[in-house]
Amino acid sequence: MSLISRLLPAVDTDRKTARSIDLAEVHAALGRVEDPELHLPLPEAGMVGDVELGRGGTVKVTVRLTTPSCPMKDTLGSDITSEVSTVPGVERVEVTFAAMSEHERMNLASRLRGDMPTHGHPFGPDSSTRVYAVASGKGGVGKSTVTANLAVALAQQGKRVGILDADVWGYSIPHLFGVRRAPIAIKGLMLPVDAHGVSLMSVGFFVKDEEPVVWRGPMLHKALEQFLTDVHWGELDVLLIDLPPGTGDITMSLLELVPDAALIAVTTPQPAAQTVAERVGRMARNMRMPVAGVIENMSALVCGTCHESTALFGSGGGERLAAAIDAPLLGQVPLDLELREGGDSGVPAMVSSPDAHSVQELRRIAAELPVVRRSLVGRKLPLSVV
Ligand code: ADP
Repeated sequence: MSLISRLLPAVDTDRKTARSIDLAEVHAALGRVEDPELHLPLPEAGMVGDVELGRGGTVKVTVRLTTPSCPMKDTLGSDITSEVSTVPGVERVEVTFAAMSEHERMNLASRLRGDMPTHGHPFGPDSSTRVYAVASGKGGVGKSTVTANLAVALAQQGKRVGILDADVWGYSIPHLFGVRRAPIAIKGLMLPVDAHGVSLMSVGFFVKDEEPVVWRGPMLHKALEQFLTDVHWGELDVLLIDLPPGTGDITMSLLELVPDAALIAVTTPQPAAQTVAERVGRMARNMRMPVAGVIENMSALVCGTCHESTALFGSGGGERLAAAIDAPLLGQVPLDLELREGGDSGVPAMVSSPDAHSVQELRRIAAELPVVRRSLVGRKLPLSVV
């Protein structure tokens, strides 16, 4: 391309000054925009179509989407506009969307598959991703709420985070993140859904609202395996697995599939919850699974006016569980209206109520999550932070 066509003069009509837009700089700006779900710069994903310079400092960009109904259109459009606007001389950015051809989708799928291990899943012993399996003895203790908010806190702390929602019958991750759509699939490869900076995958994305999941053992095992192998997780720093409560088949399947996952046991302060959570902890120890620690949730309720604290669900469950399974107590998350409201509204409290007591405690826990590795099981080592 000749220098003249690259340096097309753009006239700033308001200020009556002529400026030049360097097309190479426009392309460089597009290279700084990532697709939020592919986690690839647009040119690398093959998503940049025609780029033209128009009159009055206008840049026209055509973006080729993996699917015409791409739910990330708006995000992409505004990311492109703000990045291309930084190029000197650019006054206006027009983004047009088109769909990729079959051939282009095929190329993208093989490009993505190329990033992935040829056998198994990306969370094996050599992986640099820290995997935590969040478990509880029984339902309703706030395991998913804790998982969701820890993930958002980690993302806010600059980590690349994913949640695999393995709570097949009681899945609540889609609801907690306010997501109501199926993931995009490119030639059999699923892209996790991005919400609040976290990559999500859940059985809940594939079933209609309120419909029960009627899959049985082998189908469930297969589905979970696919969530690990046929999902383009990209390079994650942390993967949180939201396990179903108890020590059932899914938990066993997952621990078999990801033996390096470190257990985080969630309990309320009540003896009843703590005793059943202990079974999960003991199962983890028996399976030589690393244990990261215990989170006590729904600890004392602090009155917003008089600051008096009431132990609605009793006290000491977290400490007792930690002692019983020889693991650290990572924190105590108080009962908090804002945490519950965040979950109900589909915007995690970590985003909507950043100053709530429960949120502050979850943020601290996320920042100090211990790194535990399977190979270190049984050895006393100082804990380091994520
Ligand atoms: P689980 O995953 O263990 O079944 P959930 O995360 O679905 O539990 O939480 C059960 C209910 O308790 C939800 O309505 C949630 O908003 C609420 N909840 C969880 N933790 C707290 C807390 N610390 N304070 C107030 N409500 C909470």
